[in-house]
Amino acid sequence: MGLPFRHAVCMAALLSCAAPAMAGTVPADIVFTNGYIYSVDKKDHVYQALAVRDGRIAYVGGNARAARYVGPATQRVDLGGRMMMPGLVDGHMHPLEGGKSLMGCSLDYLPLTHDEFSQRVRACTANPALRRPNGTLVVRGWFQEAMKPAGVRLTKADLDRIDARRPIVVRSTFGHTTLVNSAALRMAGITAATKSPAGGEIVHDARGQPTGVLEDVAQDLVERVDPPLSADENVQAARASLAAMREQGITGFLDAWALESDLSSYTALQKSGELTARAHFAPLVEPATGADVAGNVQRLKAIAAQYDQGPTGVDPGITVRNVKFFMDGVIAAPELTGRVLQPYYVNAGTKGAPHWVPGTSLGPDPYFPPAILGPLLQGVVQAGFDPHMHADGDGAVHIALDGVQYVRDHLPHADFRPAIAHDELVSPADVPRYRPLGAVPVLSFQWEKEGPDTVDAGRDFLGPERAKAMEPAWPLYKAGARIAYGSDWPVDRLNEWFALKVGVTRTNAPEAGEKYAHPLGDAPGLPRPEVLRAITMNSSWELRSDTQTGSLERGKLADLIVLDRNVMQVPAADIANTKVLLTMVGGRVVYNRDGTIALKAATGGAR
Ligand SMILES: [Zn+2]
Repeated sequence: MGLPFRHAVCMAALLSCAAPAMAGTVPADIVFTNGYIYSVDKKDHVYQALAVRDGRIAYVGGNARAARYVGPATQRVDLGGRMMMPGLVDGHMHPLEGGKSLMGCSLDYLPLTHDEFSQRVRACTANPALRRPNGTLVVRGWFQEAMKPAGVRLTKADLDRIDARRPIVVRSTFGHTTLVNSAALRMAGITAATKSPAGGEIVHDARGQPTGVLEDVAQDLVERVDPPLSADENVQAARASLAAMREQGITGFLDAWALESDLSSYTALQKSGELTARAHFAPLVEPATGADVAGNVQRLKAIAAQYDQGPTGVDPGITVRNVKFFMDGVIAAPELTGRVLQPYYVNAGTKGAPHWVPGTSLGPDPYFPPAILGPLLQGVVQAGFDPHMHADGDGAVHIALDGVQYVRDHLPHADFRPAIAHDELVSPADVPRYRPLGAVPVLSFQWEKEGPDTVDAGRDFLGPERAKAMEPAWPLYKAGARIAYGSDWPVDRLNEWFALKVGVTRTNAPEAGEKYAHPLGDAPGLPRPEVLRAITMNSSWELRSDTQTGSLERGKLADLIVLDRNVMQVPAADIANTKVLLTMVGGRVVYNRDGTIALKAATGGAR
């Protein structure tokens, strides 16, 4: 649908030229007026009105001119002062796992005592419907770091007391730890003699027996016990994840560890017209294969050739342009699998009278040694992919930045957008490197608060200096880094609005209690425009869709949301309570809370 050229130029100049002829204006499908339309354009302009035509934004500006876009078939929506903003783009999540977490047995991310844990798992064992077809009970939503009192360690014996006969597999919310019972170890064939795989650990007790705790890649060893879901079950989980996303206002996401099952499930939903968010996928490069650059590139290209649907269109599609690498695990106890530059602290005193001193462990060896990482990243970038590196500890971040530096040195003209996810600890010397390297820190703002994982499971082990510097959003922002947001769902419950609130306040929810009532660390939170930009424009940039999504500007896709409150104006704590009233993707309404906004569901888009 071509606008007359003169008119297009005029509109691009943002209403600064003389009124165009009425005849030159093609009516829109929908015209919103009387809104607080927060554009996230270069200057965060706020407008009153926005028109959608053929799935794109035909106009954004004042009320008066919006009237020109109203034709006989145009739907008109009076926003009554409500806030509209770009749809949320989640730059790092695990949507299929998220969908699974909404089904089956879950511990619901709750802080639990040993007894409460046992009671809840036992209750699940009593419900046969919760078992896999092979008899295994899979338990999700285990907030391992929040076990009460702090420092509680569970082993296979705890699960054996609940059910010694049938396998139990408990998945931690951080995704780095799986706890299994003896029956599961037997079924998996894990014995005292089984060696830990590269990039993972089978934890052993003092007598050399496996404790039932499997870290990182070692979790793959229980695949026989908790086999992959069937294709139908996966599609069901993917469907559930999209429903949760629509309600949150998510219109685009990066699946930050895309397996075949992820790609095929969302592709199936795309084919049946059920894909309601723009889906980006990052297949994983396994640490053990790091030296095989050509083999990895060939495999990644084959995945992209099979699934990537090419340039972004009005309807949500499937994109395979990112590649996932794990540099380390997590810096929280009990894992302490994050790679750090200075040793973790250990308690040289007693439980009652602790005395924390530097120990000797820097965490595991880097999952990709620097000599392997540089050439690997170079090969992946040359093949047209953007690396997305999980790096949690400052040691891993340092290696990731060095890897990016290696590619910049060897391919000085390469156009690539490296992302470093999590960045919970960054050496002050590395903070200024993100900007010149064009590396995007993908932060999970909801971690920037006092809580069991930061206070109880973090502070003592890091020592006072590093504990104060955890979650360095502020220094990264001051150093000019382009900060993007990624929820990492289902590591936490999917709650983008709570995360944005924490990004601003660095405080926990009031329900978390007095113990966690203070802001985390010394640094302030980010300004509101910056957190909103992180989850819209900057995450779109990370995913190379910034010319199409991330802001409300003429010509861009109509991916937008309407909120029940103005997150730029309400008290910061209240951002957490935000409800999305309307979610629109490519001009199509995919979520309309209680029908609050009078708009037909099938509206918009020529399709
Ligand atoms: Zn993740």
